[in-house]
Amino acid sequence: MSPQVIFKSAEEMPPMAVSLADMSHNKTGGWRYLRPVYQEKLAPCRAGCPAGTDWPRVLALLSERKLIEAWQLIKEENPLPGVCGRVCYHPCEAVCNRKHFDEAVSIQALERFVADACFELKRRQSRSLNIERKAERVAIVGSGPAGLSCAYFLAKDGFQITVFEAESEPGGMLRVGIPQYRLPREILNREIEDIAALGVEFELNTRIGSDIDLEKLWQRYDAVFIATGAHRSRPLQIPGEDEAGRQGRCLTGLEFLKAVNAGSQPRSRLIGQRVLVIGGGNTAIDAARTALRLGARPVVIYRRTRTEMPAIPEEIEEAEHEGIEFVYLAAPQKIQRVDSKLEVEFIRMELGAPDAGGRRRPIPIPGSEFVMEADSVIKAVGEEAELPFLPERLETSRGVVMSNPRGLLERAGVFIGGDAQSGPSTVIEAIASGKHAAHAIMRYLKEGDWQKAKSQGPKAKKEGIAFERLNLDYFVSQPRSEVPYLPIAERVTSFSEVKGALSLELALKEARRCFSCGVCNFCDNCRVFCPDVAVSRKNGAYEINLEFCKGCGICAQECPRGVIALIEEER
Ligand code: FAD
Repeated sequence: MSPQVIFKSAEEMPPMAVSLADMSHNKTGGWRYLRPVYQEKLAPCRAGCPAGTDWPRVLALLSERKLIEAWQLIKEENPLPGVCGRVCYHPCEAVCNRKHFDEAVSIQALERFVADACFELKRRQSRSLNIERKAERVAIVGSGPAGLSCAYFLAKDGFQITVFEAESEPGGMLRVGIPQYRLPREILNREIEDIAALGVEFELNTRIGSDIDLEKLWQRYDAVFIATGAHRSRPLQIPGEDEAGRQGRCLTGLEFLKAVNAGSQPRSRLIGQRVLVIGGGNTAIDAARTALRLGARPVVIYRRTRTEMPAIPEEIEEAEHEGIEFVYLAAPQKIQRVDSKLEVEFIRMELGAPDAGGRRRPIPIPGSEFVMEADSVIKAVGEEAELPFLPERLETSRGVVMSNPRGLLERAGVFIGGDAQSGPSTVIEAIASGKHAAHAIMRYLKEGDWQKAKSQGPKAKKEGIAFERLNLDYFVSQPRSEVPYLPIAERVTSFSEVKGALSLELALKEARRCFSCGVCNFCDNCRVFCPDVAVSRKNGAYEINLEFCKGCGICAQECPRGVIALIEEER
């Protein structure tokens, strides 16, 4: 299919296929002329990445074996590529144009490859960074991905940063929530060490609200960023829950994961053999897979169907591969102790009309109650933000803080972001939120105008270049490179990392699968095919000499990536 496209104006550039026959008299008697415009477009993967990583350029560098440059480019937008290369839900791949051709590019696996390969060099580089220090000091509350990201971008700009963290180690959910078999702690540690190497100081075991007041931070620092996450687990609100809790037989998913991640095995041993995990999010799946590794036989019970499960689909799949049992369309009604066991009564559900969030509402089916026996119950029905240190008026009923879209609170100089602002979300959203907050703080400290800073909204999200704009004649089908997985038998008896890495050979092959949508990779087609010799390469781009160009459109047609487009002009 021809990708030849004309636009009404350089700004709008709506796609519209034309043929050479279109170069004709228009209604007013003038000539329609098609002027080729060389202008890079936004790739869908970049548009889809909340952190805005420039994947086409990263993958182009990687495919030329320029690993360090590729890593540097990722780090311009994201301080945690080793983490994201493992646990990001990779929205970039969901919108990759290549999925309409054969399969999406394995961007996440490539991110991990670059991060791991560059580890040694990047350590040396960050240590040798010579940053000019600014006088302003910023306090960051919480050291999860949002806090770390904000600290990184501000420290790179020279601000003096102190991160206050309630736990004994930094990392937030990356350390206390996500299990080691998905995110080995040495990966997290080394990326945090890189952030500390920028001069960021960490005050651990310091809870804002009890150890230090927010008010004090506000007085001592020029700005404060609150990134305390969403750590309060919602209760099941059923009879017997509290009693079973007091006996240590009914615990929250986060409580369980935090204990296991902190290495306190005795607490986790209490779960016994038969463990009922109630919920369908990441916490539920991680708790079930963790319990399995501790020798239990977990069953995940969810009140909707697999399709509505909020957990990352790949993780659900892995849990299934590992042999975890799932029961769908069932909700717990009560828990009671019978001899040494628990009996949990459930009721069957059916799906009704969609709720406000668009998911079909589960409705109990009267008379469908059934009982499951268990040694323990892990409840994982959602988390919410807990912000007792904030003035009352800043909280909404669901624990989500009211702020402007850029995370600015009613108090001058106090910003909020990550899960504490949005409610439970994802690592990459938290990283993006920390970065936006860093830029908002920089602007505020530079301009000092809080009202102005508050009135600035986020930029509108842009769409990436459409698949239809590519010239597929230049691409050949090639299967996606997949990472190796640890054999099931080894997985379920250890906390070793489940997903493996791409080899150098496969990483290069995979990086070369990138269509580089909308981003010029200097294939030279436009120059070679131009019958008027109007195209030349200059200063890292192509120039079209309109003195020679007759507007035939061949350059646009033969550009595989939609970089050249035609603009309709009257002459
Ligand atoms: P957090 O990571 O929660 O960090 C907040 C930090 O603030 C914590 O360290 C906390 O101790 C600290 N803190 C809290 N209160 C105070 C206080 N008063 N004073 C000082 N410090 C305080 N997302 C993905 O993208 N991929 C996944 O695979 C994934 N898996 C997950 C698995 C589990 C079990 C859970 C619970 C979440 C998962 N998520 C996943 C979601 C992701 O972890 C979060 O969206 C993300 O960590 C939020 O980042 P944050 O910085 O806002 O908060």
